[in-house]
Amino acid sequence: MASLTSARRIVVKIGSALLVDRQTGALRSDWLKTLAEDVAWLKGLGKDVVLVSSGSIALGRGVLGLPRTELALEQSQAAAAVGQIRLARAYEEVLAPHGITTAQVLVTLEDSADRPRYLNSRATLAQLITLSVVPIVNENDTVATDEIRFGDNDRLAAQIAVTVGADQLILLSDVDGFYTANPSQDATATRFEVIDEITPEIEAMAGDAGSGLSKGGMKTKLMAAKTATTAGCAMAITEGSALNPLRALENGAQATWFTAQTDPQIARKRWIAAIKPRGTITLDAGAVQALLSGKSLLPAGVTAVTGTFGRGDAVAISDANGHTLGHGLARYTSEEAKRIRGLKSQDIEAVLGYPARAALIHRDDMAL
Ligand code: GLU
Repeated sequence: MASLTSARRIVVKIGSALLVDRQTGALRSDWLKTLAEDVAWLKGLGKDVVLVSSGSIALGRGVLGLPRTELALEQSQAAAAVGQIRLARAYEEVLAPHGITTAQVLVTLEDSADRPRYLNSRATLAQLITLSVVPIVNENDTVATDEIRFGDNDRLAAQIAVTVGADQLILLSDVDGFYTANPSQDATATRFEVIDEITPEIEAMAGDAGSGLSKGGMKTKLMAAKTATTAGCAMAITEGSALNPLRALENGAQATWFTAQTDPQIARKRWIAAIKPRGTITLDAGAVQALLSGKSLLPAGVTAVTGTFGRGDAVAISDANGHTLGHGLARYTSEEAKRIRGLKSQDIEAVLGYPARAALIHRDDMAL
């Protein structure tokens, strides 16, 4: 079974039912303080931590005095707008005493489905993590309509885990793991300790039940597990309502762990290698050497650009003899790349009229 202390980068998903008292609609601040202690413990061990937190709708609906029954879309959007401010402030207040800076990151489904936007959110999250900030992520419920939303933070958290290249995703939930059947309906249901592979049999065991406050059930958790594990990220489902829930998990609290299928870097490189390239970038010998020694691809070493591609599209990388070295995701369009080919970074702004990005293809976005 995985241990939090063996991870490098951990995404923790916090469900609404943990954060918000079901009876009163108030924030469970004593619990949240102990979650902050756990985050500080992990940061102290040098781990990167990203939190994906639900709760904006649950908090906002209390403030607005909206009913506890299913809300109309516009009502939940209004509730989210009111609740999200409080949610972000609550995290800031509990983490600041530990010297931890927080950031609010609101994303939509399009931010992961549209490649340029995906690259933008990936770059922003990477920068926050480099600055040792703990991002507090939620869906941008205020603008997300039914057709274009995740709707549940289980799948959102898995997508964020993939985006930041996490090696562990912890779903703090109101159930302590994945069962053979719904334990509240079937006394013979037993919990899995570890699931190495999500088979059709396992999928058939996932019921649909949510808990009233939260959107996700076991189905969305399994979908999250698939997304995470195929991208090289292990995932745990554990009951999070006890104080210090992450410490409790480390000390052996009941959970189900889903085993990662590979490691995050390998999964990403495979993914990049599998995308059909929309163009080719040809390099001089110096740039080839730089790439092979692990550097990013700069416009200076580019001798030719062919094809039509947009930001975030895959392109082939070729040497002067037409030999393909690998694939990468372009950070410029083909049109821009043609204009800046051969230029030194400091001369790019004069040609394009806006500041240059660090690289034409970043080394993290390359599979050689
Ligand atoms: N994004 C929603 C919120 O913050 C929660 C979705 C979920 O419960 O999974 O209220």
